[in-house]
Amino acid sequence: MAVKTFEDYFNRLKKMKSNVYINGEKVSRTDERLRPGINVIKETYDCANNPEFEDICVTTSHLTGEKISRFCHIHQSVEDLLKKQLMTRLLCHRVGGCIQRCMGIDAMNALSVVTYEMDQMLGTDHYERFKNYLKYFQENDLCANCAQTDAKGDRLRRPHEQKDRDMYLRIVETREDGIVVRGAKLHNTIAPYADEIIVIPTRFMTDKDSEYAVAFAIPADTEGVKIVARYAYQHKRKHLKAPIAKFGDAESFTIFDDVFVPNERVFLNGKSDPRQTPFAGYLALLFAHFHRHSYTGCKPAISEVLASATALVAEYNGIEKESHVKEKLSHLIGTAELVFAAGQASAYRGEKSESGTYIPDEILTNVGRRLAGEEIYNEYKILADIAGGLAATLPMEGDFYAQETKELLNKYMVRNPNISAEDQHRCFRFIENILVSELAGVMQVAGLHGGGSPQMETITMMSRYDVNSLKNIAKYLAGIEDKLPRYERPTVTPKKMLEKFRMLFKGK
Ligand SMILES: Cc1cc2nc3c(=O)[nH]c(=O)nc-3n(C[C@H](O)[C@H](O)[C@H](O)COP(=O)(O)OP(=O)(O)OC[C@H]3O[C@@H](n4cnc5c(N)ncnc54)[C@H](O)[C@@H]3O)c2cc1C
Repeated sequence: MAVKTFEDYFNRLKKMKSNVYINGEKVSRTDERLRPGINVIKETYDCANNPEFEDICVTTSHLTGEKISRFCHIHQSVEDLLKKQLMTRLLCHRVGGCIQRCMGIDAMNALSVVTYEMDQMLGTDHYERFKNYLKYFQENDLCANCAQTDAKGDRLRRPHEQKDRDMYLRIVETREDGIVVRGAKLHNTIAPYADEIIVIPTRFMTDKDSEYAVAFAIPADTEGVKIVARYAYQHKRKHLKAPIAKFGDAESFTIFDDVFVPNERVFLNGKSDPRQTPFAGYLALLFAHFHRHSYTGCKPAISEVLASATALVAEYNGIEKESHVKEKLSHLIGTAELVFAAGQASAYRGEKSESGTYIPDEILTNVGRRLAGEEIYNEYKILADIAGGLAATLPMEGDFYAQETKELLNKYMVRNPNISAEDQHRCFRFIENILVSELAGVMQVAGLHGGGSPQMETITMMSRYDVNSLKNIAKYLAGIEDKLPRYERPTVTPKKMLEKFRMLFKGK
């Protein structure tokens, strides 16, 4: 069985070379500031080893037939897509936020499709390389960051047009046995405590951008990689132990300061073979697509965590039966359900690509992720509204246990006399964690931009949606056309999406 334990993962981290930087210090991966994020990853290993979650978190490798973690799996069916979404939702409930491990496997799924397509069209051997890497990834139950977002410099300029050519990660040297890359990938969740960094392009590349059309995977402590981490913290607790208090997260600037990548770990190389350059955009798009589908699992969970706090604090505040409270709670529930439903429907409409990998529906995934992004601040507003100001002004935990203040604080803490002061304190301490903490601030921005900002989903969706089929309805109803053509859902299925890309590449 290739499902590993948290101890296996943590022992690997302990052995890694120190290349993580926090606030001016070079630290080991056991640094206590990274521990809250590592605790999140622990949940993914613990649940895979817990019989209660085995049907969701464990699956069978299509390569080796061995039992593996779903975080190492390439989707082989509609059921796999549904289970990935469900697993993400369940695990996010357990950590009260982002589960962080999804992006590695979203990148692997995208690579499985694109390397296969590239081999078919260009006669390269990238799919074989990828499969070898996947086997290693699955056998060791590895944890990966996907480093996609480049520094990007001037947003309106293409990579080759930037004043500083390193604003997008690029190949600076080609050797017989590999390539040397330079650049920086930003906002990299999990990178400070990941085994591997999977690098893929962030956008479509033109012929002039060939040196930027590169994808590869390397151990996170490879020579020349510098991971400058920014951790998000909670106030430390001494007395009120609670699951939410032990979780956190860290993002990084992952800097590639002339890093050697051996050929067997390179999956796209437009510099050596410019025919590969158009596949950069295809890979960028497909990763975003799989990752947005993951968002239709995690984002409902985050809405539900907010809804759970809203419902509980409404009860403690004695206002749960008020109509405006029910209305606001229903909005949170409705958003969670709609986003999840979009992801589910896109899984049901998922199609098998020629590589064997299942790809969810494009339009539905994007509308689901966009709704999540558009609603995020409204959802936090609802919780802030119902909780009142105390979530932001709650005295420090120690004062609830200090001789001089404890009785007074517990007395004035009480809203509902039937509930203990400690439980009411616990409820507001929890809301402090998810609404006004450092981590809560990061989660809000993540809810907007992670996986691509709503504007990106709009662009993806509208570049493929057939608006003419909508106009047909208006033309018929307005009497401009006599006949209304039979309505076909105006979407681009993965199969059509692949065909479109194939035509594009054949034209090259
Ligand atoms: C908490 C968090 C975790 C993340 N984790 C990861 C990760 O693990 N890996 C990873 O690769 N990325 C990660 N991201 C990055 C995320 O995908 C990006 O933040 C997102 O794609 C937006 O890119 P940006 O931050 O560069 O913003 P920008 O692209 O700079 O966007 C800012 C604004 O500029 C607009 N804009 C940008 N370009 C143009 C243009 N050409 N024309 C018109 N308007 C434009 C955008 O629409 C937006 O309104 C994470 C982000 C967050 C917040």
